[in-house]
Amino acid sequence: MSQITIALSKGRIFEETLPLLAAAGIVPSENPESSRKLIIGTNRDDVRVVIVRASDVPTYVQYGAADLGIAGKDVLIEHGGAGLYQPLDLKIARCRMSVAAPVGFDYAAAVQRGARLRIATKYINTAREHFAAKGVHVDLIKLYGSMELAPLAGLAEAIVDLVSSGGTLKANNLVEVEDIMPISSRLVVNQAALKLKRDQLQPVIDAIAGAIK
Ligand code: ATP
Ligand code: MG
Repeated sequence: MSQITIALSKGRIFEETLPLLAAAGIVPSENPESSRKLIIGTNRDDVRVVIVRASDVPTYVQYGAADLGIAGKDVLIEHGGAGLYQPLDLKIARCRMSVAAPVGFDYAAAVQRGARLRIATKYINTAREHFAAKGVHVDLIKLYGSMELAPLAGLAEAIVDLVSSGGTLKANNLVEVEDIMPISSRLVVNQAALKLKRDQLQPVIDAIAGAIK
Protein backbone atom coordinates (compact mmCIF):
# COMPACT_ATOMS: atom_id res chain seq x y z
CA MET A 1 0.00 0.00 0.00
CA SER A 2 1.31 3.46 -0.79
CA GLN A 3 1.42 6.32 1.67
CA ILE A 4 -1.39 8.91 1.73
CA THR A 5 -0.36 12.41 2.77
CA ILE A 6 -2.96 14.96 3.89
CA ALA A 7 -2.01 18.67 4.06
CA LEU A 8 -3.72 20.67 6.81
CA SER A 9 -3.13 24.00 8.50
CA LYS A 10 -3.23 24.20 12.26
CA GLY A 11 -5.83 26.15 14.15
CA ARG A 12 -9.45 26.18 13.04
CA ILE A 13 -9.00 23.97 9.95
CA PHE A 14 -7.19 21.24 11.87
CA GLU A 15 -9.77 21.34 14.69
CA GLU A 16 -12.80 21.33 12.38
CA THR A 17 -11.31 18.61 10.17
CA LEU A 18 -10.79 16.11 13.01
CA PRO A 19 -14.41 14.85 13.03
CA LEU A 20 -14.37 14.46 9.23
CA LEU A 21 -11.15 12.44 9.32
CA ALA A 22 -12.53 10.38 12.22
CA ALA A 23 -15.48 9.44 10.01
CA ALA A 24 -12.92 8.04 7.57
CA GLY A 25 -11.25 6.13 10.41
CA ILE A 26 -8.26 8.49 10.51
CA VAL A 27 -7.07 9.84 13.87
CA PRO A 28 -3.90 12.00 14.00
CA SER A 29 -1.60 10.86 16.80
CA GLU A 30 -0.63 14.36 17.93
CA ASN A 31 -2.01 17.88 18.06
CA PRO A 32 0.18 20.26 16.00
CA GLU A 33 -0.64 23.08 18.45
CA SER A 34 1.35 21.41 21.22
CA SER A 35 3.72 19.03 19.42
CA ARG A 36 5.39 21.49 17.01
CA LYS A 37 5.90 18.56 14.65
CA LEU A 38 5.21 19.27 10.99
CA ILE A 39 4.69 15.63 10.03
CA ILE A 40 2.15 13.86 12.18
CA GLY A 41 1.38 10.16 12.06
CA THR A 42 -2.10 8.73 12.40
CA ASN A 43 -3.67 5.51 13.67
CA ARG A 44 -3.29 4.22 10.10
CA ASP A 45 0.19 3.19 8.98
CA ASP A 46 -0.55 4.36 5.44
CA VAL A 47 -1.82 7.86 6.33
CA ARG A 48 0.13 10.89 7.56
CA VAL A 49 -0.69 14.56 7.99
CA VAL A 50 1.63 17.42 7.08
CA ILE A 51 1.10 20.79 8.77
CA VAL A 52 1.56 23.77 6.44
CA ARG A 53 0.54 27.41 6.27
CA ALA A 54 -3.16 27.70 5.25
CA SER A 55 -2.23 29.47 2.01
CA ASP A 56 0.36 26.78 1.15
CA VAL A 57 -2.09 23.83 1.24
CA PRO A 58 -3.08 24.11 -2.48
CA THR A 59 0.60 24.24 -3.49
CA TYR A 60 1.47 21.03 -1.62
CA VAL A 61 -1.47 19.24 -3.23
CA GLN A 62 -0.88 20.73 -6.71
CA TYR A 63 2.67 19.35 -6.82
CA GLY A 64 1.69 16.00 -5.29
CA ALA A 65 3.68 16.50 -2.07
CA ALA A 66 0.28 15.87 -0.47
CA ASP A 67 -2.48 13.75 -2.00
CA LEU A 68 -5.30 15.49 -0.14
CA GLY A 69 -5.64 18.84 1.55
CA ILE A 70 -8.20 21.12 3.11
CA ALA A 71 -8.20 24.80 2.22
CA GLY A 72 -10.53 27.78 2.40
CA LYS A 73 -12.28 28.96 -0.77
CA ASP A 74 -10.47 32.29 -0.21
CA VAL A 75 -7.12 30.52 -0.46
CA LEU A 76 -8.20 28.37 -3.42
CA ILE A 77 -9.38 31.31 -5.49
CA GLU A 78 -6.12 33.17 -4.87
CA HIS A 79 -4.14 30.05 -5.77
CA GLY A 80 -6.13 29.49 -8.97
CA GLY A 81 -6.77 25.77 -8.43
CA ALA A 82 -4.38 24.41 -11.12
CA GLY A 83 -3.85 20.65 -10.78
CA LEU A 84 -6.49 20.37 -8.07
CA TYR A 85 -9.67 18.35 -8.05
CA GLN A 86 -12.15 19.94 -5.62
CA PRO A 87 -14.83 17.32 -4.97
CA LEU A 88 -16.28 18.51 -1.66
CA ASP A 89 -17.42 21.65 0.10
CA LEU A 90 -16.82 20.61 3.72
CA LYS A 91 -18.90 23.48 5.14
CA ILE A 92 -16.31 24.13 7.86
CA ALA A 93 -14.41 27.35 8.72
CA ARG A 94 -17.33 29.35 7.35
CA CYS A 95 -17.20 33.10 7.02
CA ARG A 96 -17.62 35.63 4.22
CA MET A 97 -15.35 37.84 2.19
CA SER A 98 -16.36 41.48 2.36
CA VAL A 99 -15.33 45.00 1.58
CA ALA A 100 -15.08 47.06 4.77
CA ALA A 101 -14.46 50.77 5.32
CA PRO A 102 -14.28 53.21 8.22
CA VAL A 103 -17.67 54.06 9.76
CA GLY A 104 -17.69 57.63 8.42
CA PHE A 105 -16.60 56.81 4.85
CA ASP A 106 -19.37 56.97 2.24
CA TYR A 107 -18.22 54.06 0.08
CA ALA A 108 -21.32 54.02 -2.14
CA ALA A 109 -20.92 57.73 -2.95
CA ALA A 110 -17.21 57.31 -3.70
CA VAL A 111 -18.03 54.44 -6.09
CA GLN A 112 -20.86 56.42 -7.68
CA ARG A 113 -18.65 59.37 -8.56
CA GLY A 114 -16.06 56.99 -10.02
CA ALA A 115 -13.36 57.75 -7.47
CA ARG A 116 -10.21 55.66 -7.57
CA LEU A 117 -10.10 53.75 -4.28
CA ARG A 118 -7.09 52.37 -2.50
CA ILE A 119 -7.92 48.91 -1.18
CA ALA A 120 -5.65 46.91 1.12
CA THR A 121 -5.99 43.12 1.10
CA LYS A 122 -4.36 39.72 1.28
CA TYR A 123 -6.67 38.65 -1.58
CA ILE A 124 -5.36 40.58 -4.57
CA ASN A 125 -6.77 38.30 -7.31
CA THR A 126 -10.22 37.95 -5.79
CA ALA A 127 -10.42 41.68 -5.10
CA ARG A 128 -9.26 42.58 -8.61
CA GLU A 129 -11.98 40.40 -10.15
CA HIS A 130 -14.66 41.67 -7.81
CA PHE A 131 -14.02 45.36 -8.45
CA ALA A 132 -13.50 44.85 -12.19
CA ALA A 133 -16.88 43.11 -12.44
CA LYS A 134 -18.50 46.06 -10.63
CA GLY A 135 -16.60 48.65 -12.66
CA VAL A 136 -15.01 50.13 -9.54
CA HIS A 137 -11.57 51.69 -10.06
CA VAL A 138 -9.10 50.47 -7.46
CA ASP A 139 -5.44 50.47 -6.58
CA LEU A 140 -4.80 47.25 -4.69
CA ILE A 141 -2.23 47.11 -1.91
CA LYS A 142 -1.04 43.66 -0.87
CA LEU A 143 -0.87 42.99 2.87
CA TYR A 144 -0.16 39.77 4.75
CA GLY A 145 -2.22 40.41 7.89
CA SER A 146 -3.96 42.93 10.16
CA MET A 147 -5.87 44.39 7.20
CA GLU A 148 -8.10 46.34 9.64
CA LEU A 149 -5.23 48.65 10.45
CA ALA A 150 -4.80 49.91 6.88
CA PRO A 151 -7.71 52.42 6.78
CA LEU A 152 -6.99 53.59 10.32
CA ALA A 153 -3.34 54.26 9.50
CA GLY A 154 -4.18 56.01 6.21
CA LEU A 155 -2.72 53.28 3.99
CA ALA A 156 -6.03 52.58 2.21
CA GLU A 157 -9.64 53.79 2.04
CA ALA A 158 -11.08 50.31 2.42
CA ILE A 159 -10.10 46.66 2.82
CA VAL A 160 -11.13 43.28 1.46
CA ASP A 161 -11.05 40.72 4.26
CA LEU A 162 -12.80 37.74 5.83
CA VAL A 163 -15.56 38.49 8.33
CA SER A 164 -17.34 36.09 10.65
CA SER A 165 -18.88 37.79 13.68
CA GLY A 166 -17.81 41.30 12.65
CA GLY A 167 -16.24 41.82 16.08
CA THR A 168 -12.80 42.71 14.75
CA LEU A 169 -14.25 45.24 12.31
CA LYS A 170 -16.36 46.81 15.02
CA ALA A 171 -13.42 47.03 17.43
CA ASN A 172 -11.58 49.01 14.76
CA ASN A 173 -14.46 51.28 13.79
CA LEU A 174 -15.01 49.61 10.41
CA VAL A 175 -18.24 48.42 8.75
CA GLU A 176 -18.95 46.02 5.91
CA VAL A 177 -19.98 47.96 2.83
CA GLU A 178 -20.15 45.08 0.33
CA ASP A 179 -20.48 41.32 0.57
CA ILE A 180 -18.20 39.57 -1.95
CA MET A 181 -18.82 35.86 -1.38
CA PRO A 182 -19.50 33.20 1.25
CA ILE A 183 -16.39 31.23 2.27
CA SER A 184 -15.99 27.69 3.52
CA SER A 185 -13.27 25.07 3.27
CA ARG A 186 -12.98 22.48 0.50
CA LEU A 187 -11.33 19.12 0.17
CA VAL A 188 -8.69 19.29 -2.55
CA VAL A 189 -7.17 16.25 -4.23
CA ASN A 190 -4.12 15.93 -6.45
CA GLN A 191 -5.48 14.90 -9.86
CA ALA A 192 -2.72 12.40 -10.65
CA ALA A 193 -2.90 10.84 -7.16
CA LEU A 194 -6.63 10.32 -7.58
CA LYS A 195 -5.91 8.16 -10.63
CA LEU A 196 -2.90 6.30 -9.22
CA LYS A 197 -4.20 5.76 -5.67
CA ARG A 198 -7.93 5.70 -6.29
CA ASP A 199 -8.42 2.46 -4.29
CA GLN A 200 -7.08 4.18 -1.19
CA LEU A 201 -8.31 7.73 -1.75
CA GLN A 202 -11.89 7.16 -2.90
CA PRO A 203 -13.04 5.50 0.38
CA VAL A 204 -11.54 8.39 2.37
CA ILE A 205 -13.27 10.95 0.13
CA ASP A 206 -16.59 9.07 0.39
CA ALA A 207 -16.39 8.77 4.19
CA ILE A 208 -15.62 12.50 4.50
CA ALA A 209 -18.52 13.29 2.16
CA GLY A 210 -20.85 11.29 4.39
CA ALA A 211 -19.77 13.23 7.49
CA ILE A 212 -20.37 16.75 6.14
CA LYS A 213 -22.92 18.57 8.28
P1 ATP B 1 -2.05 32.50 8.77
O1 ATP B 1 -2.70 32.60 10.13
O2 ATP B 1 -1.03 31.41 8.64
O3 ATP B 1 -1.65 33.82 8.21
P2 ATP B 1 -4.68 32.26 7.87
O4 ATP B 1 -5.05 33.44 8.67
O5 ATP B 1 -5.18 32.17 6.48
O6 ATP B 1 -3.15 32.01 7.77
P3 ATP B 1 -6.41 30.70 9.54
O7 ATP B 1 -6.73 31.88 10.36
O8 ATP B 1 -6.19 29.37 10.19
O9 ATP B 1 -5.11 30.93 8.67
O10 ATP B 1 -7.54 30.56 8.46
C1 ATP B 1 -7.64 29.42 7.66
C2 ATP B 1 -8.88 29.51 6.83
O11 ATP B 1 -10.03 29.57 7.69
C3 ATP B 1 -8.97 30.75 5.95
O12 ATP B 1 -8.33 30.54 4.73
C4 ATP B 1 -10.47 30.92 5.80
O13 ATP B 1 -10.96 30.08 4.78
C5 ATP B 1 -11.00 30.44 7.14
N1 ATP B 1 -11.21 31.56 8.08
C6 ATP B 1 -10.40 32.61 8.29
N2 ATP B 1 -10.91 33.45 9.21
C7 ATP B 1 -12.08 32.91 9.59
C8 ATP B 1 -13.08 33.27 10.54
N3 ATP B 1 -12.98 34.38 11.24
N4 ATP B 1 -14.12 32.45 10.71
C9 ATP B 1 -14.24 31.31 10.01
N5 ATP B 1 -13.32 30.92 9.09
C10 ATP B 1 -12.26 31.69 8.88
MG1 MG C 1 -5.91 33.97 10.48
